[in-house]
Amino acid sequence: MANYADAQELAALRSLSASIGRDPHLTQAAGGNTSLKAGDTLWIKASGTWLKNALAEDIMVPVAIAPLLEAVEQRDPAADQPQAFAIEALNARKLRPSIETTVHALMPQRVVLHVHCVETISLAVQADCEGQLAKRLDGLEWAYVPYRRPGLPLAQGIAERLRPGVDVLILGNHGLVVAAETVAGAEALLRRVTGLLARPPREVVEPNVVALTALIGRTGYRLPADVEAHAAAIDPESCRMASGGSLYPDHVIFLGKGSVVARPGEDVPRVTERCGAAPVAILFPGAGVLMRGDASAGADAMQRCLADVTARVDVAAKLNYLTAAENDELINWDAEQYRQKLNAAGG
Ligand SMILES: [Zn+2]
Repeated sequence: MANYADAQELAALRSLSASIGRDPHLTQAAGGNTSLKAGDTLWIKASGTWLKNALAEDIMVPVAIAPLLEAVEQRDPAADQPQAFAIEALNARKLRPSIETTVHALMPQRVVLHVHCVETISLAVQADCEGQLAKRLDGLEWAYVPYRRPGLPLAQGIAERLRPGVDVLILGNHGLVVAAETVAGAEALLRRVTGLLARPPREVVEPNVVALTALIGRTGYRLPADVEAHAAAIDPESCRMASGGSLYPDHVIFLGKGSVVARPGEDVPRVTERCGAAPVAILFPGAGVLMRGDASAGADAMQRCLADVTARVDVAAKLNYLTAAENDELINWDAEQYRQKLNAAGG
């Protein structure tokens, strides 16, 4: 990087990225991404890499901004393949830029943070989201972008809603974007917005580990990596919300469509038989969650995310679930298949 000030900001961004990546309320698995614009180049987190590794590994990929923005404007499908815009001479590890690179390129500010913050998602799945945001974000320059599949469709959705001065985007059924001219400014804005959107989670009782252990038996299933994940099955309201379908894209990508909830009296083999295949995760109402033995670290992170999100949703709210078509386009998407392959390899 030619400019010393840019290099310093990139170092600060890597440090902030690692701290955001370690907070499961801000990012889960390979989700979320950060970027810095340095002249004509956008340095963006690589697809499939984890923000928490931002200091230990080189996860930032250089992308040429102008041609990428031109492709978005022309609705050129090339904008859905941001690797075509990577500056290969500077891309030593030959990583692909994030699927969400266009989100960062569209924001004019130098530093952009995109997080799958549970406070934001829990509001962004409610049908009354815009009204709730208007009350909480009064005084900020924010815009709400209805759900679109990440990539070119989401970029177009943002371009339609972006106004001069906007530095906060709430992405429907997805997450939060904040932007500023400095890393310190972006971090401060992130803390301010997440503070304004914060709601206390409903309290839950402990998981019934005895019952879960009995259900595990010889099935090859296991307890989730994080004890917090059980709340989605223990809390009746959370379990009801989970059973209604898929609420945000990374859930579908790591755990499949919706959630599998065991019916009264069902054990793991019966659930598997009913589903026709062994689900990555099974919710046992009142008891807790079991994960399939080979579930990835990403699947565990997303199962915990479901508990953290649903615990914050207003129990009286009508929820926007992803439609069948929206679920299918996520499952059949090759950029995502690439990201999952890296996730399985690198965790
Ligand atoms: Zn995202």
